[in-house]
Amino acid sequence: MIKNIIQSIILLSIICGCIPKRLSERKVASGPYKIVVGADPQLFMRQKNDLFWQQTIDLVISLNPDFFIVCGDLTNAGNKASRWEDPVRAASYEKQAAAYLSGSKRLEKHLPVYNVAGNHDVTLRPTPERLAWYENKFGKAWYSFEHRNSLFIVLESNLLRDPSGAPQKAKEQKEWFKKLLQKSKHKNYDHKFAFMHHPMCLKSVSEKSGYYNMPEKIRNELLDLFHDNNFTAVFSGHLHKNNYMRVGKLELITTGSCCVPLGKDPKGVRIVEISKEHIQHKYYNLEQKPILDKPIQKK
Ligand SMILES: [Zn+2]
Repeated sequence: MIKNIIQSIILLSIICGCIPKRLSERKVASGPYKIVVGADPQLFMRQKNDLFWQQTIDLVISLNPDFFIVCGDLTNAGNKASRWEDPVRAASYEKQAAAYLSGSKRLEKHLPVYNVAGNHDVTLRPTPERLAWYENKFGKAWYSFEHRNSLFIVLESNLLRDPSGAPQKAKEQKEWFKKLLQKSKHKNYDHKFAFMHHPMCLKSVSEKSGYYNMPEKIRNELLDLFHDNNFTAVFSGHLHKNNYMRVGKLELITTGSCCVPLGKDPKGVRIVEISKEHIQHKYYNLEQKPILDKPIQKK
């Protein structure tokens, strides 16, 4: 009897629209859809407050994509573990994280937000402690999700670049990634996308290793995996300006900063339209004016 009453209440609530649909179920229509990619809000680097981050959130709400993903450096915390030993600095990192979350939680009332770890979030040489701090606040450092028959993979690029501070974690990520790719071979995805903070490379796949790209050895390993597994694109940040490369069928897309640009590109986000066959993307400034056009890319 009680069970029947509860079932009736739930049914009535659904009919009345009183129970919101899970965010993942909010859009199921077929056809092209859009996601928004941001990078490097890096609160509070050269910013007195979170104004630009909140403006970014307002823009993404108005664009109403399926989801928003931020390619790392959510905060401007110390990118060396030693900086975290200073309690004054450590307290300021907590404030930066809180400012980021105040915006991302506001957006999550409208659509899902996915985070990627940057060197300012987990340091350039992540340790289990720094990874735990990040995961406690922002969610897993590496993970995947499916959306509209595509696979989206988030990797932690600092650990890929320098596993020495957390070798066990680095091994876990690599094994997890290879297993995921193996499993994905049996699924007929429209696209596979990877997101990581560091760009693979900026001008050439054979360029020298440096602060702004992936070291050559891991770059080659990853590029082989992306090619062998038919990835459509790899999205990154870290540069604070836009950069594009195409390696065979694979697009390497680096998005400028939504809050603190370091170059001629203004503050902005990238709108990516995804259809079964193609992706198309444009970088918009915070006033929603398209800055750079990209033609439709055939797979
Ligand atoms: Zn960075």
